[in-house]
Amino acid sequence: WAERLKRSLAKTRSQWGQQLARLFGGGKIDENVYEELETILLTSDVGIAATQALLEQIRTRVKRQNLSDTTQLKEALKQSLLELLTPLEKPLDTTTAQPFVIMLAGVNGAGKTTTIGKLANLFQAQGKSVLIAAGDTFRAAAREQLQAWGERNNVHVVAQESGDPAAVIFDAVNSAKARGIDIVLADTAGRLPTQLNLMEEIRKVQRVIDKALPGAPHEVLLVLDSNTGQNAVTQVKAFDDALGVTGLVLSKLDGTAKGGVIAAIAQSRPVPIRYIGIGESIDDLRPFKASEFIDALFE
Ligand code: GDP
Repeated sequence: WAERLKRSLAKTRSQWGQQLARLFGGGKIDENVYEELETILLTSDVGIAATQALLEQIRTRVKRQNLSDTTQLKEALKQSLLELLTPLEKPLDTTTAQPFVIMLAGVNGAGKTTTIGKLANLFQAQGKSVLIAAGDTFRAAAREQLQAWGERNNVHVVAQESGDPAAVIFDAVNSAKARGIDIVLADTAGRLPTQLNLMEEIRKVQRVIDKALPGAPHEVLLVLDSNTGQNAVTQVKAFDDALGVTGLVLSKLDGTAKGGVIAAIAQSRPVPIRYIGIGESIDDLRPFKASEFIDALFE
């Protein structure tokens, strides 16, 4: 896995890897070094707030440990990143309810449908029964994609030709209760936080799920396309304000140089990153581990 993760993060690695390697190549730690480090972090989508916080921590480490050579900065940066990212490492525990209902949200093309397939596969491999609610009633293709996928993988998909996403998901949760299903994965249509009517619609979906099963959804999972960089931070805030996001999936980390956005999220709105998506295949979903992620970036 370590190798695979390293390969997946190749673009982010080369974005900062090469520049950092030059910076950490030896020489005295001075203001120029800090300035260059700041530029590298900012151009890697770490964002202003997280960059400032990291730099402050690194300066403290340099002072406390009496570091003088830039070769010693790498470890200081890794340690500071680890402190920043570790609070996001909270694996999803689906054993607290049955059925455990996961509602997915996100903008169009973020990777929700793909993530549902990957999650269903992952939970089935753990011996859990899964039911999918095709709550994206806007796009017929999304429903058909899930239905076809469900047939191939022996997962029941609750879908309706047209209509109200809340009704589809309400039916799905009731069906899961009746069948003794472990996990419900509820898809929703893509929407932008600025589309207020659509944000109201997903809030209604959330309320209706709670009517079908009090306390549900147990997880509001926001899927973010890593390629959107700093925009992902805005999305986390907006969706969290509207829905109370309990977990994130960072998709498409394999195709982007913007992996540094994880640090920006950690600084601005530290919602747990449950999984990272590192490819289009069914098994390209990985629980987020801060140390594994940082090692893959630096080693
Ligand atoms: P949705 O609109 O949110 O449901 O997005 P989709 O699940 O349809 O995904 C949009 C596109 O992103 C598809 O072409 C997926 O194959 C692709 N995709 C999703 N997750 C990943 C990932 O982790 N890595 C890569 N490389 N592609 C992904």
